[in-house]
Parts: sequence; C-alpha cells; structure tokens
Amino acid sequence: MPLIILTGLPTSGKSTRAKQLHDYLTARIAGTKYRLHLVSDDSLSISRSVYDLSTVPVHARSANASEKNARAAIYGAVKRVLSDKDIVILDGLNYIKGWRYQLHCEAKAVRTPSCILQIGCSKERAQQVNEDRLKRDQAAVEQEGSEAPSDTTEAYAPANWENLVFRHEEPNPMTRWDSPLFTVIWEDDEEQVKRTFDSLWEAIAGEGRKIIKPNQ
Ligand code: ADP
Repeated sequence: MPLIILTGLPTSGKSTRAKQLHDYLTARIAGTKYRLHLVSDDSLSISRSVYDLSTVPVHARSANASEKNARAAIYGAVKRVLSDKDIVILDGLNYIKGWRYQLHCEAKAVRTPSCILQIGCSKERAQQVNEDRLKRDQAAVEQEGSEAPSDTTEAYAPANWENLVFRHEEPNPMTRWDSPLFTVIWEDDEEQVKRTFDSLWEAIAGEGRKIIKPNQ
C-alpha cells in the first residue's frame, strides 16, 4: 500500500492535514488487512534546527551532517514499515526533489505506489504561524525563566525558516516521482479536503490503482 509524501513550506499546515488524512484513512481501512503509519520529524524526535543551514556557507552545505542524519532516520523509518499491506503517511518538509525521487524508488522497490500531497499556503500565512510560535516560546521563557515548553510544536529560527522557503522545490506532476499529485490549500473546508482525500484514495487503493511492475 502506498507511501503518501506530504510536502509544503515550513509551518504551512502539513501536520494538521497529515492528522486529518490519518483519521480519514483509519476509517477507510477499518476491517481490512491494511495497516497505517504516520512518520514525521516529531514522531522521530527530529528537531527543526537540523534544517538550519542559514549559517553554513554555500560550499559547505553538502557536508551538513545533521540534515543528512535526519533524512537517514526518516528513510529508515519509512523502509521498516512500507509494504503492500502498509500505508505510510510521511509528514515533513520533503522539499528536495531528489529526496522525493529516492522515496518514490523505495516504494517502487516494494511494489507499492507513492503519491504526493502538497499543502498549499501563502508564504505570508505560513510565516505568521511561525512568528506566533516564536512569540509563544518567548513569552513562556519570560514567564518561566526557563526554556520553551517542550510539549508544544517547535518554532523555526527566523533565518532557518526563510532559508527553507528559499530552498523549497515545488513538486512537478510531470515527473514520475511527483505524481500523482494532490493538493489541499489552507482555505479548503472539510468537504473539499474530503473530496481530495477521496480522489487520493481512489488513485492509490481504488479501482483505478496502477499496478506497479518491477521494471516500470
Ligand atoms: P506544519 O506541520 O507545516 O509545521 P501545522 O500543521 O503544525 O504546520 O500548523 C501550524 C498551525 O497552523 C497550527 O497551529 C494549526 O492549528 C494551524 N493550521 C494549520 N492548517 C490550518 C488551516 N487549514 N486552517 C486554520 N489553521 C490551520
């Protein structure tokens, strides 16, 4: 069963949609042999700071070990559970096209489809969410005189956030690894989101499901 790769700007609402998709699929697979998994930076305790290349000079970027290690951890977690009976929702930035290609190949290797769920959100809106989180953490520090609360979602340092937006590689549905591509936007209401999830389900598990051949 498929690997569903979320992609979108930082703080654009990816985890919110991933949870909604998880609820939707939980209901859809009830009573079937399928299993469902949600893999994310949070489920693997990966800090937002691993993506912080804002202080690393361009020529040294490939040597950035922390993001590489994070990707290895995510890859391992996906690989461990992905099979023809397991649906995996990968909630994360997934902003590098080469990385999405790698995940697509991994799915193909276990003869299961992959698809992309793009979370559309304006840069301004996403930035506002991050700024609100930074203010929340700052207020907590001032009040408690301690660290930001650990039970809430971590904010990105502003330069890290900007840099991630700059590096973001939009999915291209003309490529094999970014298709099929489904999109939900911030403004989509429950009904619209359900329609998108219905077509996603149809593409990956319904009658129209593409049979994966090893040499395809
Ligand atoms: P990300 O996973 O991309 O960092 P989150 O899903 O954690 O983003 O969402 C960031 C914040 O925005 C959360 O407080 C969430 O409740 C809110 N949010 C996300 N999507 C929506 C939406 N479509 N409408 C309203 N609020 C949203």
